[in-house]
Amino acid sequence: MSNQTLSLTLDPVVPDFLIDQVQSKMAYLDESVQRAVVCPDGSCMTLYLVQELDLAAQKTLEEKIHRVLTAMVSGALKPRIKILEDKLDRKLPFNKDPMDTLLETGGVYKEGKGMYVLGPLVASLVEYFNRECVDLAGSFEARPYRFPVLISPELLERVDYFRSFPHSLNFVRHLREDLDKIETFAEHAHCENGCLVAPEETQSDIEAMLSPAVCFHLYQALSGTTLDEGVKATAVGHCFRYESSNLTSLTRLWDFTMYEVIFVGEKDFVLDNREEGRKRAQKMYERWGLAYRVESANDPFFVGEFKKQAAFQSAFQLKYEVRAALPFLNDTLAVASYNYHQDFFGRKMEITAPDGKPAHTGCVAFGLERLAFAFLAQYGFERKTWPADVRRALKGI
Ligand code: AMP
Ligand code: ZN
Repeated sequence: MSNQTLSLTLDPVVPDFLIDQVQSKMAYLDESVQRAVVCPDGSCMTLYLVQELDLAAQKTLEEKIHRVLTAMVSGALKPRIKILEDKLDRKLPFNKDPMDTLLETGGVYKEGKGMYVLGPLVASLVEYFNRECVDLAGSFEARPYRFPVLISPELLERVDYFRSFPHSLNFVRHLREDLDKIETFAEHAHCENGCLVAPEETQSDIEAMLSPAVCFHLYQALSGTTLDEGVKATAVGHCFRYESSNLTSLTRLWDFTMYEVIFVGEKDFVLDNREEGRKRAQKMYERWGLAYRVESANDPFFVGEFKKQAAFQSAFQLKYEVRAALPFLNDTLAVASYNYHQDFFGRKMEITAPDGKPAHTGCVAFGLERLAFAFLAQYGFERKTWPADVRRALKGI
């Protein structure tokens, strides 16, 4: 690791409501950048570099930064944050980073960047939150689905994913069906610096990718159909999002588990059910003793698409996030989201609602590992301070 840093004055200045998002985009700027820290007033930035850069490389980097700032910051309007629930002031017994204890005691084991083995305590919390979500879905009589971890590139293309979130994509290959190539691979394949090294020509084209979301699979399954009535569905699935150097703890994983309740139908059907989902979820958070806030939000779109799409989502209040308190950081973490996509997927996937128009869609999505992490960040490891329901559910673990 190098200690090389580069300090830059930023023009345009990053407004406070964009600092976090600009900072996390910097991870995708250049492979020479390990981390970027924008100063609190948004007028400067320190880049932590893998190695010293010559003048030409530095200039290229500065040009890229300018491109990001122009795309994300110039003319960006401060979104009006709407708060629907505020339980952030709940009294909490713990204020340390649970990651330290978890790593020290084998409660989690880091297998690689953004990849963790979860030991019995965290796994049991994940299971518990999963069961609670199953009950929530049951209260809607949502029909269960199981979706593949793989997803076809055509589906992602059809829903504009390549344009909206290219930076987080993950690809799957296999070996070509050719005995010579398989033998060549078997002979030469090895790992260097944690990466597979093998002759390129032995590998297939990319026919599959790793799924970045759960509900896309339902829209695919319904594509080309006309619905007799609104659809309520539920599924839990692995999601994969490459988040580069932002993948530092259980808060941001390369491979995480999302539990979703999904609604497809006419506009009011989707909006009413999303709202009902929010209200019913409140009761779960009460049982979990969660300190949180529900506020309007936007997705982390790719730089080029960011301003337009984020402003659109904010203006129409399409996304709300449940942000749990992380007392040790004096900050919050999104643990769930309530999403309304208007008729975007209905149009792209040709799903017709009972009224004959393109279907509207929405989902209520919970990040199970983040819920477990936020719970431990708020309540720590001393069970007697835990809310009774959680203590009872994990009895014997
Ligand atoms: P989203 O579809 O982006 O709203 O994600 C739904 C939920 O999944 C979020 O509220 C998080 O709890 C969780 N989530 C999203 N990205 C990650 C990640 N990289 N690591 C862990 N959990 C995540
Ligand atoms: Zn979804």
